[in-house]
Amino acid sequence: MHYTDQERYAIDYQSLEYTPYSCEFDVDDALFTERESEEVKGVKCKAFVEANRTGSTVDVDVRITGTVVVACDRCLEDCEIEVEYESSLIVHIGEESGEYDGEQMWVAKGDNIVLDQYIYESIIIALPYQRHHA
Ligand SMILES: [Zn+2]
Repeated sequence: MHYTDQERYAIDYQSLEYTPYSCEFDVDDALFTERESEEVKGVKCKAFVEANRTGSTVDVDVRITGTVVVACDRCLEDCEIEVEYESSLIVHIGEESGEYDGEQMWVAKGDNIVLDQYIYESIIIALPYQRHHA
């Protein structure tokens, strides 16, 4: 069965009635190939998600850990580097879904909180400036 990113990286908002809520996602190449990323050639990461809901606001903490394959700065061959990154997203529950600015997201009541774009961006941000074989 094939899941879209929208389904794969979603938190059911209804399940956040009893917070804190935590879950983990396996992140693989699909997230990057669908976005036609040229920078990232492969990814094997886990995203650990913790969500705390207070009224109509949900604080989402995401910790990403794993490995990413990029081109080596020195020899241009594929090079596997470790990434580790923690960040937080504030989700506002309101009337409409869709708005997102990298730090805040607006989700309509009853809709899932979909984290595919946020996890994608977090892994890009997590990449070190210098990438080369040890
Ligand atoms: Zn190299």
